[in-house]
Amino acid sequence: MSACDGATYLQRIGNLDSEIWLDGQKINGNLCDHYAFKGILKSKAKLFDMQLSSDKVDFMTFKSPLTGERVGTSFMEPRSKEDLERRRLTTQEWAKTSGGMMGRSPDYMNTGLMALAAACDVFEDNDCCDQRIKMLYETAREKDLTFSHTFVNPQVNRSSAYLEKDESLISARIVNTTSDGIIMKGARLLATQGGITDELLVLPIGGKYIDEASLYAFSIPSDTKNLKFICRESFTYRPSQFDHPLASRFEEIDTIVVFDDVLVPWERVFLYKNYNIVARMYEESQFNTFLLHQTVARQTVKTEFLLGVAQLIVDTIDIGEYLHVKEKVSELIIGYETMKSLLLASELEATVNQRGTMIPDANPLYAAITSFPRFYPRFTEILQLLGASGLISIPTEQDFESPIQEDLQKYLQGATCDAKVRTQLFRLAWDISTSAFGGRQTLYERFFFGDPIRLNASLYNGYSKERAISLAKSLLEEK
Ligand SMILES: Cc1cc2nc3c(=O)[nH]c(=O)nc-3n(C[C@H](O)[C@H](O)[C@H](O)COP(=O)(O)OP(=O)(O)OC[C@H]3O[C@@H](n4cnc5c(N)ncnc54)[C@H](O)[C@@H]3O)c2cc1C
Repeated sequence: MSACDGATYLQRIGNLDSEIWLDGQKINGNLCDHYAFKGILKSKAKLFDMQLSSDKVDFMTFKSPLTGERVGTSFMEPRSKEDLERRRLTTQEWAKTSGGMMGRSPDYMNTGLMALAAACDVFEDNDCCDQRIKMLYETAREKDLTFSHTFVNPQVNRSSAYLEKDESLISARIVNTTSDGIIMKGARLLATQGGITDELLVLPIGGKYIDEASLYAFSIPSDTKNLKFICRESFTYRPSQFDHPLASRFEEIDTIVVFDDVLVPWERVFLYKNYNIVARMYEESQFNTFLLHQTVARQTVKTEFLLGVAQLIVDTIDIGEYLHVKEKVSELIIGYETMKSLLLASELEATVNQRGTMIPDANPLYAAITSFPRFYPRFTEILQLLGASGLISIPTEQDFESPIQEDLQKYLQGATCDAKVRTQLFRLAWDISTSAFGGRQTLYERFFFGDPIRLNASLYNGYSKERAISLAKSLLEEK
């Protein structure tokens, strides 16, 4: 067993029998053939092929400490700054294939599992949970499994005074415990790619828990009995790559997860009603810091991709002479350089913890993740402001093959290219900034790492301000 290729991955996902609902219909048959999933599954398959390609296999995989076989680098526990760099390069190599649009490429959750397993001692005083998280990680690494995940309870009432009543049972909870495992009932939000990954990882949201029945963490196969995934509307409206350059390939789908008396076997549970562990598991594993390192690496690629699209628009309609245009593209340059610098700073200032794991510096990563929800909507706005009506004068592939093609060739040509090339570019800019797929991407980046308001507050709360204060005081006190 080792890092897998695209065909092996597709065969595995094709054999899944998850209960997925879309547009009021239960999906039957091979997921890889379904219009809503085949684009993203094919794009993910390409990632698996890429990691085994002869020019990349050396850095995108490493030797398994268990078998000596090559396994994916996103599973690698970093022990040095070079390892961190290698993890970043792997993430970015994958991100480049989608311009950073695939938020849940497999390296995202592989990274989270790696962090939890590297700190598995945290789970020691919860029966055999330390062994179980280690086993889950090793199985995932050796089989190259893919995961979707869910942290969030349904958005029924977010008032601080609200406490869900036991009898209403909306948020997923442990409702029974048997010798075989725990029984889960209720719902969770919002699993991107829910049902179309090998496994679903269910994690506690962190913070304060009053209710023991909400203290759990586990991973189960997506086709576990009584587990349901309810999809939002698919944004794969047309299969044509020309018409929907992004949605046709990278539409990930988001799902509500419903547990209808799901039995989670004990060997899959790695947190059970333990307040002490839930308080420590994220902090000590540096789970968020590692996820952020992966996320910021992807967002950096995405920013560079948008910068490229913006400049192509400028060249195509020849608007580069205008000062406000230069200023707008410069905003993207500044965004890209900022994200890149923060990412590199996190590696430069990385330190080894007591377990020997090399941990990136969290502060620059938090600075990046609190900036990006502001950057990204502005970046897409810039594409709209530069593209203007060009973003909506975008005939389809079929139009270009019809009797009106001569009109299109004449009236839609660009300053530097023919009408078809120009339309292809503007359809891409539209799919980033204006289509349903693009709108969802903007929402995604706003909430990718949780609520940006609370993220800012946690940066404020956790940031050591002593040095800054003493600098200010030293100037005040200088005679
Ligand atoms: C496209 C997309 C994909 C996603 N994919 C996943 C996924 O794969 N896995 C996953 O687990 N999650 C996923 N999420 C969920 C994401 O983690 C949440 O959107 C995020 O954590 C915010 O939670 P919420 O949506 O419940 O917002 P809410 O918490 O309901 O917030 C709604 C509003 O109320 C305010 N608010 C609520 N509570 C407070 C408070 N205590 N203090 C201050 N203000 C408050 C917020 O600031 C916000 O303005 C996804 C979200 C999106 C949009």
